[in-house]
Amino acid sequence: MIVDPHPDATVWLDGEFLPWRDATVHVTAHHYGVGVFEGVRAYAGDRGPAIFRLRDHTARLFRSSQILGIPVPPAFGPEELDRVQCELVSRNRLGDAYIRPFVFYDGASGIGLHTKGLSIRVAVVALAWRDDGAHLDPLGKDQGIRLRTASHRRQHPGSLFAKAKANANYVTSILALAEARACGAHDALLLDHEGFVTEASGANVFLVRDGVIYTPPAESVLEGITRRTVLEFAVEMGLSVFERRLTRDDVYTADEVFLTGTAAEITPVREVDGRTIGACTRGPRREAITTRMQEDYRAHVRGRAGLHRGWLTPVGNA
Ligand code: PMP
Repeated sequence: MIVDPHPDATVWLDGEFLPWRDATVHVTAHHYGVGVFEGVRAYAGDRGPAIFRLRDHTARLFRSSQILGIPVPPAFGPEELDRVQCELVSRNRLGDAYIRPFVFYDGASGIGLHTKGLSIRVAVVALAWRDDGAHLDPLGKDQGIRLRTASHRRQHPGSLFAKAKANANYVTSILALAEARACGAHDALLLDHEGFVTEASGANVFLVRDGVIYTPPAESVLEGITRRTVLEFAVEMGLSVFERRLTRDDVYTADEVFLTGTAAEITPVREVDGRTIGACTRGPRREAITTRMQEDYRAHVRGRAGLHRGWLTPVGNA
């Protein structure tokens, strides 16, 4: 989980490293909230902290800003933002950390529905992460979490764009998560406009049935970097994987369900809409595909895996 910011933490804003309290914008900062962001993890490893799939996250930030038509100032290109993220982890003396780069409009310009004349701000914060083996529940990573189908639909790709990690997309996520919590679940399962399964409030969803892995296609979900990692692991493990439309009853009848995300990592799901997942069909958890994915993921992010060493960027090299 993310630890609350230290008052002396260092933040990066528009090219400057500043104390947390001084990294402010004016009250008129574009209140429609047009902006994009990333969520990135650094891991304390045996050879010092390293950021997992940093270049892929930065590339997605730039794709998000391209989709929304927000021109990131040329001085803050991908290489510079990679360097800043590494330097922030070092400056704040972090090991396990959560890094959030964001790009947003600042200024009022008549409070109109346009972005002409507004300035574009770029910021990065890095916060300590306490690795308590939990996601949304103290026992989440081990025993699994409970999902509930949300009454809110994931946005249609014709109105908002799923491939952009845009601030606006998270209004739906926040409403859906609050509703799930109010109903006693840990997270929401969002459907698309036609009733097909998309993703959780901040994580992608996978099913396992008869040893085969399924995940919804990327058309109405965020193209998660952990999702891609798991798809790569599955191929390396010799498992069959299908990216195809899934229904709620596919989820209810799966042998295993798990979520993937930078914060969620690999989190098993034990219950969906009050139905226990896989209770009759799955073998002992240690043999489960979810567990194998968790182990493979943990080895990679901690730098203990032989393969894909390039996924880790040591912060000391910034
Ligand atoms: N879907 C949504 C809506 C998310 O917010 C996230 C978290 N970034 C994900 C999926 C998972 O993406 P990633 O694996 O890149 O963190």
